[in-house]
Amino acid sequence: MTERLYYEHPVITELSARVVSCEKTDRGFAVVFDRTIIFPEGGGQPADRGTAGKANILDAFEKDGEVYHVADSPLEPGAECVIKLDLERRLDHTCQHTGEHILSGLAYKLFGARNVGFHMAEDYCTIDLDKFLDEDALALLEREANAAVRRDLPVTEAHMDHEALSKIEIRKKSDVKSDDIRVVYIGGGDVDSCTCCGTHCFSSGEVGYIRIGDSQKYKGGVRLWFSCGGRAVNEANALTRAMTGLARSYSTSRDELPSAVRKQSDELASLKRELKARTLALSKRIAAENKEPIAVVMEEGFGANDVKMLSEELVAHGARIALVFGRANGAVNYRALRGESETVSMGEVVKAVNALTCGKGGGSPVFAQGASSGDVTEEMLLSLCKLLKDWTGESRKEKNDELLRL
Ligand SMILES: [Zn+2]
Repeated sequence: MTERLYYEHPVITELSARVVSCEKTDRGFAVVFDRTIIFPEGGGQPADRGTAGKANILDAFEKDGEVYHVADSPLEPGAECVIKLDLERRLDHTCQHTGEHILSGLAYKLFGARNVGFHMAEDYCTIDLDKFLDEDALALLEREANAAVRRDLPVTEAHMDHEALSKIEIRKKSDVKSDDIRVVYIGGGDVDSCTCCGTHCFSSGEVGYIRIGDSQKYKGGVRLWFSCGGRAVNEANALTRAMTGLARSYSTSRDELPSAVRKQSDELASLKRELKARTLALSKRIAAENKEPIAVVMEEGFGANDVKMLSEELVAHGARIALVFGRANGAVNYRALRGESETVSMGEVVKAVNALTCGKGGGSPVFAQGASSGDVTEEMLLSLCKLLKDWTGESRKEKNDELLRL
């Protein structure tokens, strides 16, 4: 069995070890040493990385009591080599992991919420609690967690067998097969107590700072995103810089930023309402002035909602078919709508529009809509108008009217 020295304090960063075996695998070379300082993945904590001689250790895992190191080049069995630990990665993982204990322990003590999931990624960590905690509860949890950090409480461990474990009350008992079970305490159990195989800080003060960045309802409970130590400081600094930049663009202070954003948002909503009312009034006027039974029009500044509005007004004012294009913000949207007595399918109309204007869209026989990728010219509108007049028999009617006038 590999001798495990990754729990030592202070952290051992270099170790001479003998290669016991080395096997080629899909992921590289699985190397077993007689002893190691590389923590294999466990308890939600990712594996350490480092080097062994000239090989890079990319990952590590545990199998049948041995620690397997995933190396990118082979190592000679029997040879001695120096294992070097990626200390920065280890300290970061240790810090996030210990912070997770503090949050989970206090969530249980304060609210009876149990940790039912923990995930540590390269750039974020999450805890899933089985009970929903609202913003106020999470703010209290964060305050208490940082108070526990400032008290610099000891992080200790005890080893026991299953029988001894069955006699104690702790927050969480994992399903461990071995009879050497490791129980981790923070503040002698005042903050947390649970079985765990991860690496931990030696006191809560080493965690430095615990920050709950976000939360959302999850499976009847809550998922919270948190960060600790350097990660938390970097996140808080990035947020402060972003808020400062935003406050400057609003010509206000960071404190006044929320009310400035709310004010602008209200103004925007009011302007949108006003614009909609004006577009409706304009659409009614255009529709009232339209004399064409087949109305094919292009309106500047009309978006997707506006072409819908105008097509409805045109049909309401007697048009048999309204094919309305709107050009706004560099895009051309269109909508085709027919009156109740018309039988030509708008789906077919849109196929013709798409073919002519490089458009994309579709719909039902009654109405269809889409957007054109190229520009829509006056000539295109005229040819679409002619096509619709042919389809509806309007061309024949126009010719007859002309002959009658003569
Ligand atoms: Zn742990």
